[in-house]
Amino acid sequence: MVRRPALSPRLAGLGTSIFAEMSALAAATGAINLGQGFPDEDGPIEVADAAVAAIRAGQNQYPPGPGIEPLRRAIAEHQERFWGLTFDPDTEVLVTTGATEAIAAAVLALCDPGDEVLAFEPTFDSYPAVAALAGARLRPVTLVPPAYEADVEALAAHVTDRTRVVLVNTPHNPTGKVFTGDELGAIAQVCVERDLVAVTDEVYEHLVFDGRHRPLASFPGMAERTLTISSAGKTFSVTGWKIGWVCGPRELIAAVRTAKQFLTYVSGAPFQPAVAVGLGLGDEFYAALASGLRAKRDLLCEGLRVAGFDVFVPQGTYFATVDIRPVGGTDGLEFCRSLPERCGVVAVPSSVFYEDPADGRHLVRFAFCKRTEVLTEAADRLAGLRGGS
Ligand code: GLN
Repeated sequence: MVRRPALSPRLAGLGTSIFAEMSALAAATGAINLGQGFPDEDGPIEVADAAVAAIRAGQNQYPPGPGIEPLRRAIAEHQERFWGLTFDPDTEVLVTTGATEAIAAAVLALCDPGDEVLAFEPTFDSYPAVAALAGARLRPVTLVPPAYEADVEALAAHVTDRTRVVLVNTPHNPTGKVFTGDELGAIAQVCVERDLVAVTDEVYEHLVFDGRHRPLASFPGMAERTLTISSAGKTFSVTGWKIGWVCGPRELIAAVRTAKQFLTYVSGAPFQPAVAVGLGLGDEFYAALASGLRAKRDLLCEGLRVAGFDVFVPQGTYFATVDIRPVGGTDGLEFCRSLPERCGVVAVPSSVFYEDPADGRHLVRFAFCKRTEVLTEAADRLAGLRGGS
């Protein structure tokens, strides 16, 4: 029997992923799962067919570490086509096991123990966790409610001589906020003035309903100091495939590759050619993806309003955030744990996305990346809450 605690003190605060807890609760109770963000329909058939064909054709052994050349080329072409960003597929693009690995490898590559990572909160749960893995610390800068504005002066005030990275997630999970050009321009200025590297999480880049997505790397002075990260999961409705990528200047990509090769070594061989097919799909695919999801957003947000919640209408992503106080809730975690029993729906408490959970205590996140009939049923069930049924 080992007497010392198994878990290193560095990781002791991390607990269990709230998404895993809430998906398990949905499975155990049979409730509608509007917690973890994953679609309940498959993406484009061409993409699925290409993965099946790759398996049948024997693309089942280790692919090249940086990713197969056709996928790196497709990623570079996508960055140019949608965002006007130019990357050399051979030296400035790295394929990863989802955006989550790309973010982890970037933070591990860039940060020494004691370094600091800045991010706006609420922050996606893996960000403070990977900072902890690196022995670094995530310092959150709170987005200002109710519109979740970025307080860039506060960001600048949080920069110290230990700050190494600014991690920017737009479109933003969990709020659904899309950062404005003014906000991104001001963040870019802080990065340039204080010589910081930006790591961006843009996995919802194609799921924008109002406003428009702009990569931070497109702002003055940023191309040379930004690692731009995205993935296939949300764009092609394949969250379980775990194919992501990171694009940036050669030296930064080489640093991330050094960390990545000892995390997962390489990433899903037969999925790589399939994602290359997806990235080459026509504009109509991308337009239909956003418009389909906009309709789902509107449907769920209306249902949440009718149920009595205060709703923050998201400009992008899979998620809508509500204030539970108008329906008598006070503590989001308690609320979400009892919701399946009360009305057969699962959601995620936003308190887990704040350093001080009290700051997000009254906030709960619902996912709307589900079939229309599922959202309609969920809205009907939530409407029963106010009556106490
Ligand atoms: N990105 C998904 C969400 O926010 C979940 C990812 C995960 O389970 N780690 O719901």
